[in-house]
Amino acid sequence: MRLAPLFVLVLAVLTAAARADTDVTPAVAKSPLLQSIASDVKPDELRAAIGKLVGFGTRHTLSDTTSNTRGIGAARRWVKGRFEEFSRHCNGCLQIDMPEQTVTGERIPQPAAIVDVLAIQRGTDDPDRIIVISGHIDSRVRDVMDAKSDAPGADDDGSGTAAVIEAARVLSKLKFRATLVYAVLSGEEQGLYGGKLLAQYARDHHWRVEAALNNDIVGNTLGTNGVKDASHVRVFSEGTRSTETPEQATRRRYNGGEVDSPSRNLARFVSGLADGYLTDFSVRMVYRTDRYSRGGDQVPMLAAGYPAVRFTEAIENYTREHEDVRTENGVRYGDVLDAVDFPYLAQVARLNAITMAALASAPPPPAEVKTEGAVSMDTKVSWTAVPGAASYRVWWRDTTAPQWSNSRAVGDATTLLLKDVNIDDWFFGVSSVSADGYESPIEFPGPAGAFNAAPGAAQEK
Ligand SMILES: [Zn+2]
Repeated sequence: MRLAPLFVLVLAVLTAAARADTDVTPAVAKSPLLQSIASDVKPDELRAAIGKLVGFGTRHTLSDTTSNTRGIGAARRWVKGRFEEFSRHCNGCLQIDMPEQTVTGERIPQPAAIVDVLAIQRGTDDPDRIIVISGHIDSRVRDVMDAKSDAPGADDDGSGTAAVIEAARVLSKLKFRATLVYAVLSGEEQGLYGGKLLAQYARDHHWRVEAALNNDIVGNTLGTNGVKDASHVRVFSEGTRSTETPEQATRRRYNGGEVDSPSRNLARFVSGLADGYLTDFSVRMVYRTDRYSRGGDQVPMLAAGYPAVRFTEAIENYTREHEDVRTENGVRYGDVLDAVDFPYLAQVARLNAITMAALASAPPPPAEVKTEGAVSMDTKVSWTAVPGAASYRVWWRDTTAPQWSNSRAVGDATTLLLKDVNIDDWFFGVSSVSADGYESPIEFPGPAGAFNAAPGAAQEK
């Protein structure tokens, strides 16, 4: 009899679970493909790439572009050469393009050419659906206009550039349904020019960008304060879309969606992959577009309406970034090679590579996700079918929960009535699943959450 209250409690919990009609979250099926991609990423490759980049002395955007040994021009041509080499090993699977734009600005007083180096690996099924990885090749010292002094930029952003090259090396050996774009950008430090050029290129080529993964400062593990963190990477994502209209904002403020932009659900997707595939390494999601009052090349992609996140090491070292190389009062300043933690950078590069492969192996997220059910005990979730999806999964979570918790597989249906799940009390989303089990990111209903990666999906104005 003394156990009765406990028994009643257990029954009550079971009854509540039944009422919420909650499936157990599916176990993450391990994909051998993603496991092999993760194991193919090598710290030594990353070390060699950054060593080479540092060897160009400075990669300042306004530095020498004609020398073959010093300056940003030589560095860009070296990256192009690496992409060409990978392409030779895959029967020309990479199309290499160097879009260029002459700009002037606050930090570019005389007209200068901004040149990005792009390698494009065409998808087999849906080549206009695009997954991008980016890093910036330009570097700087303390004076942002100093194009002459040595600016090794090993971490900022040799690390991100090396991650892009390593992703290209590993993934170009394989084929994917969607297109992968490896983007090495210029002009970041002078005003995000390379990111703007990439966004323009994407628009000009009618890319349906499902995800842009920007890697900037991803190789340091020792903080300015001496604290070490080699087991996390921060993934920054905007909460509400940069392209939201005032009408959309009004609806979103009322019904929710301020923590469910496609970029945020992309961050959740990345976090899940880290937990599923990497050892002693996880994502710290940050609910911000970027670090406080600082920027990166994901910002112009967001401004163009594309889902994008920024990867940055868990703890930064401010005596390294944007500094002249020197020793002062026993403190070493400058962004030098030996401060990069290559096993750590390899974890970040692995996470990027498996994210790209997982996204490109899955169908796009469902289009036009809708929920209905006001003044009803039940919620109806519906969506439009997308090519390549064999089935769909409806997800829901408590409105204050950071991660999706409950789900139901629905086969190839495009609607689900969730009995006794009240629309007022939960946030809902839907993912697409391929026949071989690759699941897309989860899309939150309406314009607040739309990825717009499916053919014909309404593009943001
Ligand atoms: Zn940077």
